[in-house]
Amino acid sequence: MAHSPQSAIVLPPWARDVLRVLEGHGEAWAVGGFVRDSLLGRSVHDVDLACSLPAEQSAQVLEQNGFRVIPTGIKHGTVTALIDGHAMEITTFRTDGVYADGRHPETISPATTMEADLARRDFTINALAWHPQRGLLDPFGGQEDLRDHLIRAVGVPDVRFQEDALRVLRALRFSAELGFTIESGTAEALERHADRMTLLSGERIAAELTKLICGAHASDVLMTYPRVPSPIIPEIAACVACPQVTPYHCYGVWEHIVRTLEQVPPEPLVRWAALLHDMGKPAVHDISTGRSHFYGHGKASEAIAIRVAAELHFPKAFTRDLALLVRHHDDEIRPQKQAVAKYLRKEGWNPDLFRTLCQLKIGDALAHAPEFRGRASQARELLDVLDEVLADGEPLTRRDMAISGDDLKARGHEPGPQMGAVLDALFDRVCDGKVANDAQALLDLAEELYRQSEIPAPPTPDTRPEA
Ligand code: ATP
Ligand code: MG
Repeated sequence: MAHSPQSAIVLPPWARDVLRVLEGHGEAWAVGGFVRDSLLGRSVHDVDLACSLPAEQSAQVLEQNGFRVIPTGIKHGTVTALIDGHAMEITTFRTDGVYADGRHPETISPATTMEADLARRDFTINALAWHPQRGLLDPFGGQEDLRDHLIRAVGVPDVRFQEDALRVLRALRFSAELGFTIESGTAEALERHADRMTLLSGERIAAELTKLICGAHASDVLMTYPRVPSPIIPEIAACVACPQVTPYHCYGVWEHIVRTLEQVPPEPLVRWAALLHDMGKPAVHDISTGRSHFYGHGKASEAIAIRVAAELHFPKAFTRDLALLVRHHDDEIRPQKQAVAKYLRKEGWNPDLFRTLCQLKIGDALAHAPEFRGRASQARELLDVLDEVLADGEPLTRRDMAISGDDLKARGHEPGPQMGAVLDALFDRVCDGKVANDAQALLDLAEELYRQSEIPAPPTPDTRPEA
C-alpha cells in the first residue's frame, strides 16, 4: 500500500505533550532534523520545536505545566525542556541578522511566521516544519530534494556560506550521512567558501567533521571534495598528489587513506585514526630508488594528528589514544599470546585500544593492493589472541597482580620507593613467566627480594656517601 510521505511522521508522546502545551498559548511546530529523518524513514534521535512565543514565555508556560526547563540559549531564543529522559530544544521563530564574522549573526530578530524562520535554515531538506493537524510546511522544495537525494542551500548559496562557514562542512556532513548529492550550484559555492572555515571554533568544526567521517558515505564525499577540509588539514592536498610507487599499493596516498577509512567501523576514534594514519607520508616520501619508501611516516603522521587534535580541542584522553594508534599503526605484532600481552603492557595501551589498533590494521590492509590484502587476516588473528590473553587473566598492569602494596604493608614493610621497586620486580617476573601470579608465591618471592636486598634501597639523605 502506498503511503503519503507525511503519514510517516509520528511525534513521540513526550514531544506531543510539549507541543500541546505550547499550542495553548502560541504556534508550535516540529522542525529540522526530526521532520527530515521521519520523511526518510530514518530513526529519529531528538525532536526540535519552533515556537511563536518568546523563549522566556515558552519556559514559563512549560514550567507552569510541570516540565523542567533549562535556559540553554535565551539570547538566541532557545530553551530546553527535559522530559522522560529527552532534551527538547524549543526555539522562537527568528530571522538572523548580519553575519559579520562568518560564524554568528550579530543580531537575531523575532520572526512572525514559521515560513520566515524556515528561510534562515541551511538546506532545503532541513527547512521543513510539521504539525500534527496543520501538516507539512515546505516553502523551499525540501520534499522534492529529499526524493531526489539532493542537498541544496536555501536561497543564494554564496550568501548562505558567506554568512556561516560551518554550513560548508554541514553540506558535506549531510551528504556523508545520507548519501545525497550536493546540488551543483551549492557544491560550487561551498568550494569557494571553504577557506572561511578557519574562522570557526575548533569544537564546531570537530563536531561536524566527526559526523562527516563517521557517515556511511564518507568515502564518496572525501574522494569528491578532498580540498574542502584542507583549511583544517592542509596536508590533504599533498596526499592527493602523492603516488605510491610500490607493489604493496594500488592507490595513491589519499585514496588509500579514504579506502582505509571506509573499511573501519563508523566510530570517531578509529575513523580519525584512519583519516590521519598516513597523512605524514608525503613529507617523508623517498622515491630516489624509483620505488616509494615512506620511512618514519608513523611518527610524521602522529605529529599531524597531535596538531589537528589540539586545533579541534579534542579531549586529552582521545588525543592520547589517537596519537598512539597513528604512531603505531604499522607495528609488527606476532599473533602469539606472549607478544600480545607484552604489547598491552606498554605505556598507554589497554585491551580496548588494542582492539581499535587491530581494526585500523584490518582497514589499512584491505586498502592495499589486492595481493597484499591477506594481511587483514593476520590482524584478525591478533583479535583472537587478545581474547585468549584476556580469558587467561594474564596480568597486564601491576594492578592485576595477585598481591598489592597493602599486602606487603600488612607484613610490616614500609610503603615508599623500595616497595614500589619490589612490586615492579615482581611484576616483571610474572610477565616473564618466572613466577606464577599467585598470592603466596609472590609474597614468598617478595620476602626473598627484600632479604637478598636484590632491590637496593634508594639512597636517603642519611645513607648518601659524603660528597
Ligand atoms: P542532526 O540529525 O544531526 O541533529 P539536524 O538537522 O537536526 O541534524 P542540528 O544541528 O540539530 O541538525 O540543527 C537543527 C536544525 O537547525 C537544522 O535542521 C537546520 O534547520 C538548523 N540549522 C542548524 N545549524 C544551522 C546553520 N549553521 N545554519 C542554518 N541552519 C542551521
Ligand atoms: Mg538535531
